[in-house]
Amino acid sequence: MRDLERRQFGRTGLSVTALGFGAMDLGGPPAANEISDVEASRVLNIVLDSGINFIDTAVCYGTSEARIGRTISHRRREFILATKCGCVPGMPMGTPHVHTAANIRAGVEHSLRTMAQPADPQSQLSSSRWAWLNSKLLSTAGHTAR
Ligand SMILES: [Zn+2]
Repeated sequence: MRDLERRQFGRTGLSVTALGFGAMDLGGPPAANEISDVEASRVLNIVLDSGINFIDTAVCYGTSEARIGRTISHRRREFILATKCGCVPGMPMGTPHVHTAANIRAGVEHSLRTMAQPADPQSQLSSSRWAWLNSKLLSTAGHTAR
């Protein structure tokens, strides 16, 4: 299953598999069923082993982002990671989204911090893709990337 159909991701120049993985179910209740860290790790590694290279998550998906960071950050070069803007960090799913520049920036910074806590500290935030994502999203939000 390594030869999955791929598509260009908008105008980013990124090539993603047509089949992606929505990681909302890794976040646990109330939006999803209870799942252990071991089960989440197994699912995420199977996703990557199957050749899928696009994973979608969100700040409001409970433990989803943290589990991605802890379990597959050592495989960071194998996937494109998308998260969403407008979620309010610290608030549960269902909380109205706020699409101000300040909240989008807070969400991006929250996501970067949350997903940069790998089990293997050697892979922490060393990827140029993290920097690219950070600068791209912050410039989209009208901020100058640091
Ligand atoms: Zn949200």
